[in-house]
Amino acid sequence: MSLIRMTGVEKVYRMDGVEVQALQGISLSIAPGEFVAIMGPSGSGKSTCMNIMGCLDRPTAGTYLLDGTDVSTLDDVALARLRNRRLGFVFQSFNLLPRTSAVENVELPMIYAGTPDRRAKALAALEAVGLRARAGHLPTQLSGGEQQRVAIARALVVSPSIILADEPTGNLDSTTAGEIMTLLDRLCSQGITIVLITHEAEIAAHARRLIQFRDGRVVRDMATRTRTVSPGAPLR
Ligand code: ADP
Repeated sequence: MSLIRMTGVEKVYRMDGVEVQALQGISLSIAPGEFVAIMGPSGSGKSTCMNIMGCLDRPTAGTYLLDGTDVSTLDDVALARLRNRRLGFVFQSFNLLPRTSAVENVELPMIYAGTPDRRAKALAALEAVGLRARAGHLPTQLSGGEQQRVAIARALVVSPSIILADEPTGNLDSTTAGEIMTLLDRLCSQGITIVLITHEAEIAAHARRLIQFRDGRVVRDMATRTRTVSPGAPLR
């Protein structure tokens, strides 16, 4: 059973009378628990595809089934509900509200969803990313890596089945990027499906599968080497 199944997905943007064919017929399936990296040149359609996966946008043609539901049959309210319950988003720029504490940022998706016991759940999510002690800090009082961990806690707090991450380490130094990837590895091993866009091969190496885009098409889709850890070597 696929969690994500796209068949012949196309996306055309029209701007000032000019058509841009951002996706030219994407067909792919992602099973529960997979860790998938999407790579490809700038403008190849990676973000457009992720926006459709995340129900933030709709295909112009083709079908998208999310956990068996054809999203084209849903109205905007049902789509938003599906998005809020199933999906967590992580962005390159963290997207935290600036004058709002870490714990309040994490509470936000639960406010939209009307979830009870928000404070306790937000604190538990911060605990899961190792930031319980920073709950009262504002984003400006946190390092980039800590801000991204708050953003991951915010994604986790709705217990999503999928985390969609668009260049989550793009603004981080390599050590901090490694810590964020270790965190995503752990979430994947706990059963959350991870789909991530990255430009960096080292980041993509954390995934078990690599999908390469070019000109709005999938040009390569392959299993990546299983990472082996030699006995006694420190876990990365
Ligand atoms: P990538 O994420 O691989 O850099 P994108 O999905 O952002 O690629 O973009 C694919 C193509 O679609 C590009 O040519 C881009 O200019 C175009 N595009 C993306 N979003 C829009 C939009 N909202 N309106 C018009 N064109 C867009």
